[in-house]
Amino acid sequence: MEQSRTKLVETAAKRTGSDHIAPDCRGLNFYSIDESFCDLVGLYMEPALRSHLEPHLVRLGELAGGRLDELAATADRNPPVLHSRDRFGRDEDWIEYHPAYREMEQIAFGELGMHAMSHRAGVLGWSEPLPPIAKYAFQYLFVQAEFGLMCPVSVSDTTNFVILKYGAEDLKRRLTPRLLSQDLGQLWKGTQFMTEKSGGSDVGALETVARREQGEWRLYGDKWFCSHTDADLALLLARPEGAPAGTRGLGLFAMPRRLDDGRRNRYRIARLKDKLGTRSMASGEIMLEGAFAWPVGELRNGFKQMMDQVNLSRLSHGVRAAAMMRRCLNESLTVARNRIAFGRALIEMPLVRRQLMKIMLPAEQALSMYAYTAHVMGAANRGGEGAAQLLRILTPLYKFRACRDNVRVATAAMEMRGGNGYVEDWVNARLVRDAHVGVLWEGTSNIVALDVVARAVAKSHAHQALGEALREKLAEATEIPAQFRDPLGALIARVVAFAAEVASGSANHARLAATALYNLTSAVLMTWEAAKTGNGKRLLLARMVIDHRLRPHDPLAPDDGPHADAAIEMLLDEKPLALASAARVACG
Ligand SMILES: Cc1cc2nc3c(=O)[nH]c(=O)nc-3n(C[C@H](O)[C@H](O)[C@H](O)COP(=O)(O)OP(=O)(O)OC[C@H]3O[C@@H](n4cnc5c(N)ncnc54)[C@H](O)[C@@H]3O)c2cc1C
Repeated sequence: MEQSRTKLVETAAKRTGSDHIAPDCRGLNFYSIDESFCDLVGLYMEPALRSHLEPHLVRLGELAGGRLDELAATADRNPPVLHSRDRFGRDEDWIEYHPAYREMEQIAFGELGMHAMSHRAGVLGWSEPLPPIAKYAFQYLFVQAEFGLMCPVSVSDTTNFVILKYGAEDLKRRLTPRLLSQDLGQLWKGTQFMTEKSGGSDVGALETVARREQGEWRLYGDKWFCSHTDADLALLLARPEGAPAGTRGLGLFAMPRRLDDGRRNRYRIARLKDKLGTRSMASGEIMLEGAFAWPVGELRNGFKQMMDQVNLSRLSHGVRAAAMMRRCLNESLTVARNRIAFGRALIEMPLVRRQLMKIMLPAEQALSMYAYTAHVMGAANRGGEGAAQLLRILTPLYKFRACRDNVRVATAAMEMRGGNGYVEDWVNARLVRDAHVGVLWEGTSNIVALDVVARAVAKSHAHQALGEALREKLAEATEIPAQFRDPLGALIARVVAFAAEVASGSANHARLAATALYNLTSAVLMTWEAAKTGNGKRLLLARMVIDHRLRPHDPLAPDDGPHADAAIEMLLDEKPLALASAARVACG
């Protein structure tokens, strides 16, 4: 398992059989080559769980670099097709998927049980539901190969969460055997439909109506963006007749695709979207024509309950961005080490080395955010009040910044491969197309930054919990010289105060404040991780975040000096870096 990255890159080069075209990462084990990920999993995951999951992570790492990657490319080239009638001419709309997509579903839902693993015992042989640090580890590896299907996997997971948390007992009894099944013949996969033509951000404006007819709830309306559009169970928001306007009047409903007698429910898939990315997965428009649905929880709490699902999805989006950036980084390092131009490998060129840093830094930040946010979610799930407060701010911070960074990183990785990066033979073009949706679904950048500032900071005061948690982390990092920690401690005070100031004003600088909080959090986490794992590279990365993301800059006076070149040298060296050597450079 402990193959060095050098060996793997050499293997990749040999496999291609081409002296000129740089190889890609296909054929590598995406778990084994990811030293940062292995370090953080080791740091945050209980040792017994880690050793139990190790073979599963190795297997998924191999699949992600192999079969899954091939299937993902095929499914992307063969998107789903909507048929509005069956072969008898009946009004039975159905979606045809390529066998490659079906095989990926079998891996995700059948073999790995990713939708069920945190809701019931027994998945992957573990005697309890798996904690978030494990669930998102599987998402992280899977998405390095396939992004599109992670939407259905994640919305099934979040649907299960909502049904188990808010559903009435008889509804849970009826649904959970199917929702948590790993048998694809039995399984009911989930999804969530909110967005209408009247608005995605402005959810309170939605026009779908819920009517009580003969003792049952029936839905009428038009949902404009419905990913995983043919899911077996959709959670959706609708306004019960007579309920107040705005989000206060929205109820949450669970709508089955098929009724008990096997007929389709009274809604139609009007068409599928012709999308820039996530092409393997079907997103459509739905016309609700009196569709039967069960109410979920208290109808007057519909929006609040749906936000639970949205927040879980937002965390998953951060992890997905971390995964895609890792793929971009590994692809870029492979290209830079193997492509020869002007008689030398790209990686020897100073400008290329800086370009690689622009890919590595956000990828590593997003990885630290995965591990910490998942860890905090685990604590919140166990009832920790402080952890819940912390999670309130970490989740939107992560979704906002990591998804934005992913767009830049995907473009940078495409450029690293040169013209081939623009051609669909290589994964880069797909990564560029897929990356963009992260800044749209589950809230655009503005909406999520406003959630950070106007709600998590202004209403929940969660920035204070974050500041406190970061100060504790820094205090624990006693292995790091005070010369490094003290200025970082001062930055915690400054950034937290800035967020409070923005929140108390007009929130015009919500994005600036959210970006600063994200960068601060990742810099402190990396410092702590360096101290606890002894991996000096994370300290150098923390230093880079501080220098390039948190300190003022004169664009005409590059101030990164000799220590920056030394840091780049060390970060691109494949050998592990001792903490003491890193500290000398980081404090320079
Ligand atoms: C591929 C894809 C799949 C999707 N799948 C689903 C799905 O399964 N279920 C679902 O419910 N939705 C889904 N969506 C919809 C998605 O969540 C919305 O598109 C998104 O929330 C934005 O809403 P909108 O398109 O109505 O844009 P608008 O809300 O009209 O926003 C347009 C612009 O205005 C800005 N804006 C709006 N309000 C404010 C404000 N108050 N302050 C500052 N700026 C503001 C936004 O940031 C954005 O830049 C999907 C979208 C895509 C692209």
